Amino acid sequence: MENIGQCRLCQTYGELRLSHIIPKFVFRFQRSRSVTPLRSHLVPDRPVQDSGKLYFLCDKCEERFSSWETAFKREVYDPLHAGSLDSVRYGPWLLKFAVSLSWRGLRATIETEETTPPKIKFAAATIETKKSWRDFLLDKRGHPGDYPQYIFPLESLAKTSDTTAPVNFASYIHRVAAAGIWHDPGRGALFSFSMLCSIAVIGVIALRNAHGWGERLHVRSGLIKVTSRIPPPEVIGMIKAQANDHLNMSRQLSERQKTLDSEAFSKDEEKALQSGYLQIMALDVARATKGDPQELAKLSRTVLRATRNKKQ
Ligand SMILES: [Zn+2]
Repeated sequence: MENIGQCRLCQTYGELRLSHIIPKFVFRFQRSRSVTPLRSHLVPDRPVQDSGKLYFLCDKCEERFSSWETAFKREVYDPLHAGSLDSVRYGPWLLKFAVSLSWRGLRATIETEETTPPKIKFAAATIETKKSWRDFLLDKRGHPGDYPQYIFPLESLAKTSDTTAPVNFASYIHRVAAAGIWHDPGRGALFSFSMLCSIAVIGVIALRNAHGWGERLHVRSGLIKVTSRIPPPEVIGMIKAQANDHLNMSRQLSERQKTLDSEAFSKDEEKALQSGYLQIMALDVARATKGDPQELAKLSRTVLRATRNKKQ
């Protein structure tokens, strides 16, 4: 049976829980703010209720993760999305939470996609990383070794005026949940990433130059300043590429799905406003058009069409 196997963390055999790779509270947040259905990245026309679940951990390890997730949600995630977080003092739970995400993202990516050659290369390159992170999560070592963790609130980045950013850049940052491995050979960077809607957690596997990365997460305690934090070029490059991927995915949507989405917007204008989606879209439109009215009209035609449909 699929749910009997070896727990990826403590390695005991037994019944496994259907575990989330990205924590459940992120999908709950995403769903609460989404006007259109959430969609699978691989099969864009199919809505997903709850992405990225695998038989992965035993009950005990799932519980272990859940206490760090609860602390993160209470101290960081909820206040951040309520707009009431300028800085946060954290305890030992934050590094544990970050490593649990990076480890899960790395393991799950390799496990689900190891048939493609680049992933086999990653599997070999990350053996030491996985061991360090696993041992740290199981309290067998006091720190994650040469594989540090970083957390980047993305509010400031979403407001960038960088016109090389894809047209959906702010929307991607604020509304997409995803996990994976990112390799940037040019900059000598390899890391695991977790995009949690407006916040990114990065677990470094290899990094040639940590300039611009700021402070890594400490074992016991530390302070994160939310408003002034801008991620380094390696992380911005990853976010741009992921946003671009996402854009291509939405272009592949069938005409029927596009129409349904457009209708969802006009039917639920109230939710579109309350969800903050229109404000996020405004950031993307302002950056991409640089205020040019013609460009603006072209880009916002989805919104204009929705409004027209509503009037008829
Ligand atoms: Zn276990």
